[in-house]
Amino acid sequence: MSDTVDLIRRQVCDLHRELVRYGLVVWTAGNVSARVPGEDLLVIKPSGVDYDELTPQNMILCDLDGRVVEGDFAPSSDTAAHAYVYRHRADVGGVVHTHSTYASAWAARGEPVPCVLTAMADEFGAEIPVGPFALIGDDSIGRGIVETLAGHRSPAVLMKSHGVFTIGRDARAAVKAAVMCEDVARTVHVARQLGEPLPIAQADIDSLNHRYQNVYGQQRAAQ
Ligand SMILES: [Zn+2]
Repeated sequence: MSDTVDLIRRQVCDLHRELVRYGLVVWTAGNVSARVPGEDLLVIKPSGVDYDELTPQNMILCDLDGRVVEGDFAPSSDTAAHAYVYRHRADVGGVVHTHSTYASAWAARGEPVPCVLTAMADEFGAEIPVGPFALIGDDSIGRGIVETLAGHRSPAVLMKSHGVFTIGRDARAAVKAAVMCEDVARTVHVARQLGEPLPIAQADIDSLNHRYQNVYGQQRAAQ
């Protein structure tokens, strides 16, 4: 098992660089976690450590109640929310949280990002929904994420007055969703400055989403 944990530690560490590269985080805000496949364990960023200082070794191994199993630092303060998602969504292998600017601006207004771009239909298949206002410290953020995304195609939720949580079959997919969420939040915001974006018919959203999720690109088996 330790080989698997080492691999996940390296993946989670490396994926934090993508948050920086795509401008989704400032200072030490934002975090990536991954489930350890086949184990009731997750790997997450340590709390309050600079992005430049992250190494595979200082990633924190926790159980699915968010308790530290192995690690020299305290885990991210968002660990309870990540752990809640893994406990309640067996299909989720990765979770990402950011306060990326444009997406968080929609969250600040408590307004879903409407599905008005084909890229959004591809990736999200619907609007990006808003979850409840929730304070850190108990299960309320995790519960809000799980309840809002239940039965929703979107892998991203805007937690009201807070920021973005995304899920994916693995951590890389969750990071991609976080990058795409910020991208479409920005574009739709810009569109709004000069008028009302045009709606896309639900049948077209469905068709775009189906094609992208099932046909487009290199399928998973070929990766
Ligand atoms: Zn936050």
